Amino acid sequence: MKKITIAFDGHSSCGKSTMARQLAQTLGYLYVDTGAMYRAVTLYALQHGLMDESSKQINQDGLQQALPDIQIVQKQEDGKVVTYLNGECVEQEIRQMRVSSCVSPIAALGFVRKHLVACQQQMGVNGGIVMDGRDIGTVVFPNAELKVFVTASSLVRAQRRLAELQAKGDTVLTLEEVQRNIEERDYIDSHREVTPLVQAPDALLLDNSNMTIEEQNQLVMKWAKERIEE
Ligand code: C5P
Repeated sequence: MKKITIAFDGHSSCGKSTMARQLAQTLGYLYVDTGAMYRAVTLYALQHGLMDESSKQINQDGLQQALPDIQIVQKQEDGKVVTYLNGECVEQEIRQMRVSSCVSPIAALGFVRKHLVACQQQMGVNGGIVMDGRDIGTVVFPNAELKVFVTASSLVRAQRRLAELQAKGDTVLTLEEVQRNIEERDYIDSHREVTPLVQAPDALLLDNSNMTIEEQNQLVMKWAKERIEE
Protein backbone atom coordinates (compact mmCIF):
# COMPACT_ATOMS: atom_id res chain seq x y z
CA MET A 1 0.00 0.00 0.00
CA LYS A 2 1.16 3.54 -0.81
CA LYS A 3 2.91 5.31 2.12
CA ILE A 4 1.98 8.96 2.16
CA THR A 5 3.18 12.05 4.01
CA ILE A 6 0.64 13.70 6.32
CA ALA A 7 1.09 17.26 7.62
CA PHE A 8 -0.83 18.61 10.61
CA ASP A 9 -0.60 22.33 11.27
CA GLY A 10 -2.65 24.71 13.35
CA HIS A 11 -2.95 26.81 16.45
CA SER A 12 -1.50 26.04 19.90
CA SER A 13 -3.28 23.55 22.16
CA CYS A 14 -5.93 22.47 19.66
CA GLY A 15 -5.28 18.76 20.16
CA LYS A 16 -3.46 18.22 16.89
CA SER A 17 -0.67 16.18 18.50
CA THR A 18 -3.13 13.68 20.01
CA MET A 19 -4.94 13.33 16.71
CA ALA A 20 -1.75 13.10 14.64
CA ARG A 21 -0.22 10.53 17.01
CA GLN A 22 -3.30 8.33 16.94
CA LEU A 23 -3.50 8.51 13.15
CA ALA A 24 0.18 7.53 12.87
CA GLN A 25 -0.39 4.61 15.24
CA THR A 26 -3.41 3.34 13.26
CA LEU A 27 -1.55 3.59 9.96
CA GLY A 28 1.74 2.22 11.36
CA TYR A 29 3.52 5.46 10.36
CA LEU A 30 6.28 7.40 12.11
CA TYR A 31 4.96 10.30 14.20
CA VAL A 32 7.00 13.45 14.80
CA ASP A 33 5.99 16.26 17.15
CA THR A 34 7.95 19.27 15.85
CA GLY A 35 6.65 21.54 18.64
CA ALA A 36 8.58 19.32 21.07
CA MET A 37 11.74 19.98 19.02
CA TYR A 38 11.32 23.78 19.34
CA ARG A 39 10.51 23.29 23.04
CA ALA A 40 13.68 21.20 23.56
CA VAL A 41 15.85 23.91 21.95
CA THR A 42 14.14 26.45 24.25
CA LEU A 43 14.82 24.33 27.32
CA TYR A 44 18.46 24.01 26.28
CA ALA A 45 18.71 27.80 25.86
CA LEU A 46 17.21 28.38 29.32
CA GLN A 47 19.39 25.74 30.96
CA HIS A 48 22.58 27.14 29.40
CA GLY A 49 21.97 30.81 30.09
CA LEU A 50 21.37 31.54 26.39
CA MET A 51 17.91 32.99 27.07
CA ASP A 52 16.67 35.09 29.94
CA GLU A 53 13.26 33.87 31.07
CA SER A 54 11.85 37.21 32.21
CA SER A 55 13.18 39.58 29.54
CA LYS A 56 13.07 36.90 26.77
CA GLN A 57 16.50 38.18 25.62
CA ILE A 58 18.32 35.55 23.56
CA ASN A 59 22.07 35.20 23.05
CA GLN A 60 21.66 34.45 19.35
CA ASP A 61 25.34 33.88 18.55
CA GLY A 62 25.67 31.50 21.49
CA LEU A 63 22.55 29.59 20.50
CA GLN A 64 23.60 29.34 16.86
CA GLN A 65 26.97 27.91 17.89
CA ALA A 66 25.31 25.45 20.27
CA LEU A 67 22.76 24.09 17.76
CA PRO A 68 24.95 21.23 16.44
CA ASP A 69 25.39 20.04 20.07
CA ILE A 70 21.63 19.84 20.70
CA GLN A 71 20.54 16.27 20.09
CA ILE A 72 16.77 15.76 20.09
CA VAL A 73 15.31 12.26 19.89
CA GLN A 74 11.67 11.21 20.11
CA LYS A 75 10.95 7.67 21.30
CA GLN A 76 7.71 5.71 21.49
CA GLU A 77 7.19 4.56 25.10
CA ASP A 78 3.95 2.85 26.23
CA GLY A 79 1.99 4.30 23.30
CA LYS A 80 3.30 7.81 24.05
CA VAL A 81 5.96 9.84 22.29
CA VAL A 82 8.66 10.98 24.68
CA THR A 83 11.31 13.61 23.94
CA TYR A 84 14.98 13.27 24.92
CA LEU A 85 17.42 16.17 24.95
CA ASN A 86 21.07 15.07 24.81
CA GLY A 87 20.11 11.69 26.28
CA GLU A 88 17.92 13.01 29.07
CA CYS A 89 14.14 12.59 29.13
CA VAL A 90 12.68 16.13 29.14
CA GLU A 91 9.06 15.31 28.35
CA GLN A 92 7.74 16.88 31.57
CA GLU A 93 9.99 19.93 31.54
CA ILE A 94 9.29 20.98 27.96
CA ARG A 95 5.53 21.14 28.69
CA GLN A 96 5.92 23.51 31.65
CA MET A 97 4.87 27.14 31.43
CA ARG A 98 8.52 28.26 31.74
CA VAL A 99 9.20 26.72 28.33
CA SER A 100 5.76 27.53 26.84
CA SER A 101 6.25 31.22 27.52
CA CYS A 102 9.72 31.31 25.90
CA VAL A 103 9.29 28.95 22.93
CA SER A 104 7.71 31.29 20.36
CA PRO A 105 10.59 33.86 20.37
CA ILE A 106 13.05 30.95 19.91
CA ALA A 107 10.90 29.52 17.09
CA ALA A 108 10.89 32.93 15.38
CA LEU A 109 14.68 32.76 14.80
CA GLY A 110 15.50 31.93 11.19
CA PHE A 111 18.65 29.91 12.00
CA VAL A 112 16.75 27.72 14.51
CA ARG A 113 13.98 27.04 11.97
CA LYS A 114 16.49 26.28 9.18
CA HIS A 115 18.27 23.74 11.39
CA LEU A 116 15.12 21.99 12.65
CA VAL A 117 13.37 22.01 9.25
CA ALA A 118 16.41 20.22 7.72
CA CYS A 119 16.23 17.55 10.48
CA GLN A 120 12.47 17.15 9.92
CA GLN A 121 12.82 16.78 6.14
CA GLN A 122 15.47 14.12 6.70
CA MET A 123 13.05 12.13 8.92
CA GLY A 124 10.43 12.15 6.16
CA VAL A 125 12.48 11.16 3.13
CA ASN A 126 10.77 7.77 2.81
CA GLY A 127 7.17 8.90 3.43
CA GLY A 128 4.97 6.96 5.87
CA ILE A 129 5.13 9.87 8.31
CA VAL A 130 2.69 12.04 10.25
CA MET A 131 4.27 15.29 11.38
CA ASP A 132 2.64 18.05 13.37
CA GLY A 133 3.63 21.67 13.83
CA ARG A 134 3.05 25.11 12.33
CA ASP A 135 4.85 25.02 8.97
CA ILE A 136 4.71 21.37 7.97
CA GLY A 137 2.34 21.73 5.01
CA THR A 138 3.81 25.07 3.92
CA VAL A 139 7.58 24.61 4.39
CA VAL A 140 8.71 21.19 5.62
CA PHE A 141 6.60 19.03 3.28
CA PRO A 142 4.92 21.34 0.74
CA ASN A 143 4.15 18.24 -1.38
CA ALA A 144 2.49 16.25 1.44
CA GLU A 145 -0.40 14.19 0.07
CA LEU A 146 -2.62 15.17 3.00
CA LYS A 147 -2.51 18.49 4.85
CA VAL A 148 -4.80 19.21 7.79
CA PHE A 149 -5.08 22.63 9.44
CA VAL A 150 -6.55 22.35 12.95
CA THR A 151 -8.06 25.13 15.01
CA ALA A 152 -10.57 25.81 17.80
CA SER A 153 -11.62 28.89 19.77
CA SER A 154 -8.93 30.13 22.21
CA LEU A 155 -11.32 29.64 25.17
CA VAL A 156 -11.98 25.99 24.31
CA ARG A 157 -8.23 25.45 23.83
CA ALA A 158 -7.42 27.11 27.18
CA GLN A 159 -10.03 24.97 28.97
CA ARG A 160 -8.55 21.79 27.51
CA ARG A 161 -4.96 22.86 28.27
CA LEU A 162 -5.82 23.81 31.85
CA ALA A 163 -7.49 20.44 32.42
CA GLU A 164 -4.32 18.75 31.09
CA LEU A 165 -2.06 20.84 33.37
CA GLN A 166 -4.31 20.15 36.36
CA ALA A 167 -4.27 16.43 35.63
CA LYS A 168 -0.46 16.64 35.90
CA GLY A 169 -0.77 18.38 39.27
CA ASP A 170 0.07 21.87 37.94
CA THR A 171 -2.76 23.90 39.47
CA VAL A 172 -1.23 27.32 40.03
CA LEU A 173 -2.40 28.79 36.73
CA THR A 174 -5.80 30.36 36.08
CA LEU A 175 -7.88 29.89 32.94
CA GLU A 176 -7.15 33.52 31.98
CA GLU A 177 -3.38 32.98 32.24
CA VAL A 178 -3.52 29.87 30.08
CA GLN A 179 -5.76 31.60 27.53
CA ARG A 180 -3.40 34.61 27.45
CA ASN A 181 -0.39 32.36 26.78
CA ILE A 182 -2.27 30.60 23.97
CA GLU A 183 -3.31 33.90 22.37
CA GLU A 184 0.22 35.32 22.71
CA ARG A 185 1.69 32.25 21.02
CA ASP A 186 -0.96 32.45 18.25
CA TYR A 187 -0.04 36.09 17.71
CA ILE A 188 3.75 35.56 17.60
CA ASP A 189 3.42 32.41 15.47
CA SER A 190 1.13 34.14 12.94
CA HIS A 191 3.05 37.42 12.77
CA ARG A 192 6.69 36.33 12.76
CA GLU A 193 8.73 37.29 9.71
CA VAL A 194 10.12 33.83 9.06
CA THR A 195 7.48 31.38 7.81
CA PRO A 196 4.51 32.57 9.87
CA LEU A 197 1.71 30.17 10.74
CA VAL A 198 -0.73 30.15 7.81
CA GLN A 199 -3.10 27.57 6.43
CA ALA A 200 -1.66 26.07 3.22
CA PRO A 201 -4.07 26.73 0.33
CA ASP A 202 -4.50 22.98 -0.19
CA ALA A 203 -4.95 22.10 3.53
CA LEU A 204 -8.27 20.78 4.83
CA LEU A 205 -9.62 22.88 7.72
CA LEU A 206 -10.68 21.09 10.89
CA ASP A 207 -12.29 23.31 13.56
CA ASN A 208 -12.71 20.98 16.53
CA SER A 209 -14.32 23.46 18.98
CA ASN A 210 -17.43 21.29 19.08
CA MET A 211 -16.06 17.87 18.17
CA THR A 212 -15.16 14.87 20.30
CA ILE A 213 -11.75 13.21 19.91
CA GLU A 214 -13.51 10.19 18.37
CA GLU A 215 -15.21 12.35 15.73
CA GLN A 216 -11.91 14.03 14.83
CA ASN A 217 -10.07 10.73 14.60
CA GLN A 218 -12.73 9.28 12.31
CA LEU A 219 -12.63 12.31 10.04
CA VAL A 220 -8.84 12.41 9.61
CA MET A 221 -8.74 8.63 9.12
CA LYS A 222 -11.32 9.00 6.33
CA TRP A 223 -9.23 11.75 4.69
CA ALA A 224 -6.04 9.68 5.00
CA LYS A 225 -7.67 6.57 3.48
CA GLU A 226 -8.93 8.61 0.55
CA ARG A 227 -5.41 9.90 -0.16
CA ILE A 228 -3.78 6.48 0.28
CA GLU A 229 -6.24 4.87 -2.13
CA GLU A 230 -6.00 7.65 -4.73
O1 C5P B 1 3.03 22.44 19.12
P1 C5P B 1 3.49 23.16 20.37
O2 C5P B 1 2.46 24.03 20.99
O3 C5P B 1 4.14 22.25 21.37
O4 C5P B 1 4.65 24.11 19.83
C1 C5P B 1 5.31 24.99 20.69
C2 C5P B 1 5.75 26.23 19.90
O5 C5P B 1 6.76 25.86 18.96
C3 C5P B 1 4.67 26.93 19.09
O6 C5P B 1 3.95 27.88 19.84
C4 C5P B 1 5.48 27.60 18.00
O7 C5P B 1 6.02 28.82 18.48
C5 C5P B 1 6.66 26.66 17.79
N1 C5P B 1 6.55 25.79 16.61
C6 C5P B 1 6.89 26.31 15.39
N2 C5P B 1 6.91 25.49 14.29
C7 C5P B 1 6.59 24.20 14.40
C8 C5P B 1 6.20 23.66 15.65
C9 C5P B 1 6.16 24.49 16.74
O8 C5P B 1 7.17 27.50 15.27
N3 C5P B 1 6.66 23.42 13.31
